[in-house]
Amino acid sequence: MSGASWVLVLNSGSSSVKYQLLDMATERRLAAGIVERIGEEGGAGDHAEALRRAATDLKERGFGLDSPELAAVGHRVVHGGTRFTRPTLVTDEVLAGIEDLVPLAPLHNPANVTGIKVARELRPDLPQVAVFDTAFHATIPEAAARYAIDTEVADRFGIRRYGFHGTSHAYVSRATAALLGREPADVNVIVLHLGNGASASAVRGGVCVDTSMGLTPLEGLVMGTRSGDVDPAVIFHLERVGGMGTDEIDTLLNKRSGLLGLCGANDMREIGRRMGEGDAAAQTAFEVYVHRLRRYVGAFTAVLGRVDAVAFTAGVGENSAAVRAAAMADLEGLGMVVDPVRNAVRSSAARLVSPDGSRVAVAVVPTDEELEIARDTYALAR
Ligand code: AMP
Repeated sequence: MSGASWVLVLNSGSSSVKYQLLDMATERRLAAGIVERIGEEGGAGDHAEALRRAATDLKERGFGLDSPELAAVGHRVVHGGTRFTRPTLVTDEVLAGIEDLVPLAPLHNPANVTGIKVARELRPDLPQVAVFDTAFHATIPEAAARYAIDTEVADRFGIRRYGFHGTSHAYVSRATAALLGREPADVNVIVLHLGNGASASAVRGGVCVDTSMGLTPLEGLVMGTRSGDVDPAVIFHLERVGGMGTDEIDTLLNKRSGLLGLCGANDMREIGRRMGEGDAAAQTAFEVYVHRLRRYVGAFTAVLGRVDAVAFTAGVGENSAAVRAAAMADLEGLGMVVDPVRNAVRSSAARLVSPDGSRVAVAVVPTDEELEIARDTYALAR
């Protein structure tokens, strides 16, 4: 076994490639970057070119990917279906399996597959590891994973709740236990991953038992541009009465809804500014967002029975004291309290925002999906 300890983490999206190089001997981040606007003017032509640009950038910073220090490449893969429930060493068969799942994630899995193929060509000698966004949710019991539709139809088309952001929910639920000085197996945590995409999960003793996202990342919380939960009949109505086509509705619900659809802005900072100016639409957007969040906190409290901690993470969760305060307001009855002074502190460290001695710890726990992917990759590659 060699002493190589670098892991390259690649997150290949439909129009961007994010990359991070970590030294797993110290878990230190060596370099990070993003190539955006793939396929657009001024951007990289395709994913292969994007990856070459990333490699050139890393080389210029002194981290050539031809280095013997590089141990493995870890890939974020959005959909693992029911087949991939843990990090997996990429083989031709695994790659074909990920391609088979494209119908479940038509926007994401093709980009992930391309990223893997290009990285394999770049360093055919290295282990490539796929880390699935759905994997942490594979433990969700049937009662929570099944939609109440005809079982035969559901099974024929792979329709069930898979959940996403799993890497983040796994990392944050463990980091929350560490913050409390307890073992993951001893704590029940509600994780609220509030970024541009947003999802909640209920984690019992380190095992995920429910999550807000479903067949796709569209279900659940109000997000930057996604609606989250709607009555499915909204879609029939838009078709029959609105004359809209399937793709048009897909775009409406995924790209032009959520905070953006409600008030014209999808960034919580902008919404805060507009609320300060008395903008009624921004105020409504904030209230719809918080109301949905509270519904899930309540639901997952019932799912878990006993809650030890609520953890806020990702862009909004880590930075918006206003969202945290509103989400937890008047929940003393559930043991959830936010201390206004603690909540106002800005920090990049994991921290408690509830008063000492609270029945439920309310915490801000910065997520680190790249580190989690690098850990999974390094563990498997060795
Ligand atoms: P993420 O997807 O985790 O990168 O989160 C991105 C989102 O975080 C942005 O769209 C903003 O809405 C939100 N965000 C980032 N910084 C702040 C901040 N200081 N206050 C409120 N929201 C923020």
